[in-house]
Amino acid sequence: MEPRHFPIRACPVCGSQRFQPLFRQSFAQLSATNLMEGYTVVICDDCGAGFANDIPPQSVFDDYYRDLSKYEDSSAPSAVPPPVDQKFRDVAVLIQRFLPGPGPRILEIGSASGGLLKALRDLGCSDVFGLDPSPACVAAASRLYGIPGVVGTVFTAAAHGETYDFLILTGVMEHIRDLDRAIDQFRLLMRESGRIYLEVPDASRYDATLDAPYQEFSVEHINFFSRSSLVNLMQARGFRTIEAGCVVRSLHEVTVPCTYGVFEYASVPQAIEPDTETRPGLSAYIAGCAAEDARIRRAIDESLEPGEQMVVWGVGTHTLRLLSTGGLDPSRIALFVDSNPKYQDQELRGVAIVDPARLQSRREPILVSSRSSQQAIHKQIRHGLRLRNPLILLYGREPGGHREELDPVLDTSAGASASLE
Ligand SMILES: [Zn+2]
Repeated sequence: MEPRHFPIRACPVCGSQRFQPLFRQSFAQLSATNLMEGYTVVICDDCGAGFANDIPPQSVFDDYYRDLSKYEDSSAPSAVPPPVDQKFRDVAVLIQRFLPGPGPRILEIGSASGGLLKALRDLGCSDVFGLDPSPACVAAASRLYGIPGVVGTVFTAAAHGETYDFLILTGVMEHIRDLDRAIDQFRLLMRESGRIYLEVPDASRYDATLDAPYQEFSVEHINFFSRSSLVNLMQARGFRTIEAGCVVRSLHEVTVPCTYGVFEYASVPQAIEPDTETRPGLSAYIAGCAAEDARIRRAIDESLEPGEQMVVWGVGTHTLRLLSTGGLDPSRIALFVDSNPKYQDQELRGVAIVDPARLQSRREPILVSSRSSQQAIHKQIRHGLRLRNPLILLYGREPGGHREELDPVLDTSAGASASLE
C-alpha cells in the first residue's frame, strides 16, 4: 500500500521546515480505524529536535483518543480500588517539590484512570482535577478514587473558564501534533505564577534493549523530545525553566528513560540552543532496533511448523508494524486476539480480531505479540483462561525466542509449567 502523504509538518519546537529523514515507520491499520499508515522520523536542521512528519491533522488524533483509548482501567468494578502504581507515587513526590503555595489547585491533562492524582492527594493535595479524552477514563478515576474530572483534551480544557496553580502532563506532549496551540491553552489555564510539569520519553536515551524494536515509534508517539528539545520548546514560548532532568520510569513490564521539566511563564521568549543529543540518540536506537527486529522475525519463523497457522495476541504497534513490514504473514494467522473491546470485531489484513474468551476451542500456537505485557498475557492465557495452546514468546530468557509447550499427558494443571513467573 502506498503511504499517504500529508502536508509538511513544521518542526514543532522551532517552526523550521528544513529537516532530514532518519527512519520510516509503517503500520497496518485496523479495519474500522484510519489513523495513519506510518510516518517519517525526522531531525530538524535548525534546532535538532526529532519529530514525526507525514501525519494527519490534530482532529484525527483527537477522534482516535476519544474512540480508541487503551488507557482505561479494565478491571472489574470492586469495592477495593487497585493500589496506585509505584510510578505514580514517584512522580507525585517529584512534583510535590515544585507546588506553589499552600493548597494548590492542580489539573492533570491526560489523567487516565486517576492514579497520579490519587498519589498527589495521598501527599496532602486535596484540590485535584483530571481531564481525559476518554469518557471511560474519567468515569474510572471517579469510581476508583473519587477524583473529579471532565472529558476533553488540552484544546477544550480552557472552555470551562477554570484556572489552576499547577498543570501536569506526563506522557502526553509526545502525542500532540499541534504543540503551539496546546501551549497557548496552557497559558489560559494557568494562574499568575502558576507552574507546569511536563514529562516525556527521552529520545536521546531511547534504548533498543528495553522494549520491543521500534516501539518508541509507536502509532501514538509523534514527537521525540530530549531534555534540550523540551526546554527549547517551552523557553522559545516565554516560559522559564525551574528544573529539567532525567528519570527512568517503569511501564508495565518494561522501563522507559524519560525527561521532565518544570516551567513558569515569564513572558520573555529565549533563544533556542541547538539540540545535539537527539540525532545521535535516535540513530543509535534505530541501529539497535534493526538487530532486535531481525531476531524476533527469525524467532517467529522458526517457531511455526511447516504449514502451521498461529493466533496472534495483541493488535497494538508491535503487531501493526510487523504486519506492515513482512514480519508477520497474514496467511499464517488464523485469528487475532485483543483484550480491548474496542478492537474486537474489527479485522486486520482480512483476519478477524476476537475476544480472548473465544480461544477456548482453538488449538493453534499463540504468538504473544507484545514485550511490555508479555508476562501479563502469559498469565492470562495459562491461569485466567487456562488454555494449553503452545505459546510463542519473543522476549526474555532465550535469545531465539521460545515456544512453550505443555505436556498434555504428564501435566494435569494448566499453568504448572508456566515459565515466566
Ligand atoms: Zn526545529
